[in-house]
Amino acid sequence: MMIMEYLKRNRVCQHDKVSPEVDFAYCPDCGELIENQWFIMRCACCGVKVRAMIKNGEIVAQDKFCHNCGSSIYTIDRIDKINFIDVNYAVLVKKVVTHERPDITQSWVDSTQRANDIRLLLQQFQ
Ligand SMILES: [Zn+2]
Ligand SMILES: [Zn+2]
Repeated sequence: MMIMEYLKRNRVCQHDKVSPEVDFAYCPDCGELIENQWFIMRCACCGVKVRAMIKNGEIVAQDKFCHNCGSSIYTIDRIDKINFIDVNYAVLVKKVVTHERPDITQSWVDSTQRANDIRLLLQQFQ
């Protein structure tokens, strides 16, 4: 699987022991507080879900063009909870929480905050 290949190449702790089933957990290998973040990629043109992966620290589509409409423009949405319908499409990012421990009820944030989160996430991988 593409994501695992990426993680293995990277020497930084990838928090592999943090279960994807929880929202937050402390990594037993490095002690950081980790937030599991799920992202779904969709075609910006027709809205169909497309398979995504992490490449060079960015979430990218596996296919260059939408299988449904041929568009090459995609959008990324963060989802609060993974479900069995989305699991084949979703990308899991284990993000280190650097600020004070977040209140879980405040983690369902508005779209502005999510955009900031994605920006932080991308910076973290650079
Ligand atoms: Zn770790
Ligand atoms: Zn499309």
